[in-house]
Order: sequence, then C-alpha cells, then structure tokens
Amino acid sequence: MAPLSTPTIGVLALQGDVREHLIALAAADALARPVRRPEELAEIDGLVIPGGESTTMSKLAVVFGMLEPLRERVKAGMPVYGTCAGMIMLADKILDGREDQETLGGIDMIVRRNAFGRQNESFEAAVEMAGIEGGPVEGVFIRAPWVESVGAAAEVVATHDGHTVAVRQGNVLATSFHPELTGDHRVHALFVDMVRAAR
Ligand code: GLN
Repeated sequence: MAPLSTPTIGVLALQGDVREHLIALAAADALARPVRRPEELAEIDGLVIPGGESTTMSKLAVVFGMLEPLRERVKAGMPVYGTCAGMIMLADKILDGREDQETLGGIDMIVRRNAFGRQNESFEAAVEMAGIEGGPVEGVFIRAPWVESVGAAAEVVATHDGHTVAVRQGNVLATSFHPELTGDHRVHALFVDMVRAAR
C-alpha cells in the first residue's frame, strides 16, 4: 500500500498526452490516475492538465459535464499543473483562441495560443526554471503558447527567448513546454511537492 504521504494526482483524460503524465507522476512518487468524470475529480488531491488541443479539450469538458466542477475545484485551491494546452486551460484570458473556447482560469495571465508555432512548429531548448535545482530542464515545445502578460499575483518562473513560458500562482503551475516527454521528472516532482504541501 502507498504510504499516507503519497498524494493522489489525477490527469485530466479528455484528450491529450495523458499516459506520459501518469508515468511521470508515478516516477515522482504520486498515485496517478486518469480523471474524466466529476466523481473521479472528487477523489484527487491535485490535477495535471496535459498537452493536446485546447479547443478540443474545452469542448469535451463541456460535453462531459466537467467544466464547472473543474472551475470549482480550481477556485477552491486544488493544486493544478497544466502543460501546453493545459497552460491555455489555466489562463484567465487567451488570445488567438476559438470564439467559443472556454478556459478554467486559475492564473491571472494572458496566454497566446500557437505563439511559438507561427515561427517554429516544434523545437527543444534548455530552460532554467525557478524552483528546479540541478540545471536547466529540456523544454519540448510543440505548437506551444507563450504568456503575453501576468497579473500581480502570478510569478514568472521561466522564460525562453524573452517570452514567459512558465508561471505559478499559488497552487497553480503552468508551462508552455512538455516535461512529461523528456524522462526528467523534476517538474513533476515539484508539482507533487506542491500537492503534498497543500494537503
Ligand atoms: N496548440 C495547442 C493548443 O492550442 C497546444 C499544443 C500542445 O499542447 N502541444 O491547444
């Protein structure tokens, strides 16, 4: 059995690279499970929102009756970590979204969809991230968003080429890039620590 200190962390499994996050969370000593329904949402201590396609994720969140339950738990302080499309889902405001695209909000920031994508569809870069020791993380950017601006409560924790690519506000963390694809679990370990601290 898992020790009491082991948090249960869900991965929003409507669409996107769910499996990679489940593996990274397990490697970072969390009990990881996919979450699709409100009942499953009630059973977790923290949530990862994967990369994928934020317009599809937003649509499926409505179809599965998850949009309001997710918003409520984020508002109530559940720790959440979003990568790429997940970052878009956590933005209070987005640019270049679809007209009917919904987000959960949680971070006072404006995120531009596909911002790097227009210049460069996909690339990797070493990213220095506050709170992560042991050198830069390998940032995998895939049609990635960047953060145009953050409000006073949000903290920029990483930049690339002068653009903000990671932000934290309280218990909510978001990165433009995909640490779940690298085999380096330090960012997931940081998030698991955030979940532990919040319990
Ligand atoms: N461009 C995608 C979107 O707008 C995000 C890409 C990704 O998650 N790798 O949702």
